[in-house]
Amino acid sequence: MDSLEYRRGRSGRPLARAKAKLKREGSNLCWRCGGAIDMQLTAVAPNHADAWTLDHLTPLSQGGSALDPANHREAHRRCNSARGNRADSAPAQQVNSRNW
Ligand SMILES: [Zn+2]
Repeated sequence: MDSLEYRRGRSGRPLARAKAKLKREGSNLCWRCGGAIDMQLTAVAPNHADAWTLDHLTPLSQGGSALDPANHREAHRRCNSARGNRADSAPAQQVNSRNW
């Protein structure tokens, strides 16, 4: 984990850089549940349910920008993925938008 790794990150993927920046400069509070996100846990167990993830305010499937920081939010992994479990709002109408 060399911190220079992402400072020079032009060669890195832009999303990875955006994540690193948000982790460092963000509030580290989950925008969905409002709880603090354990960054130490995230460092050692990034796939943990309570680990930090970059969430998108407007889902990419709805035209949200993947890379625009304005569309980025911090969330627990469990909260980030929770919306997929919401029966009420999970539309079966996730159209196969292949024609674009
Ligand atoms: Zn949360």
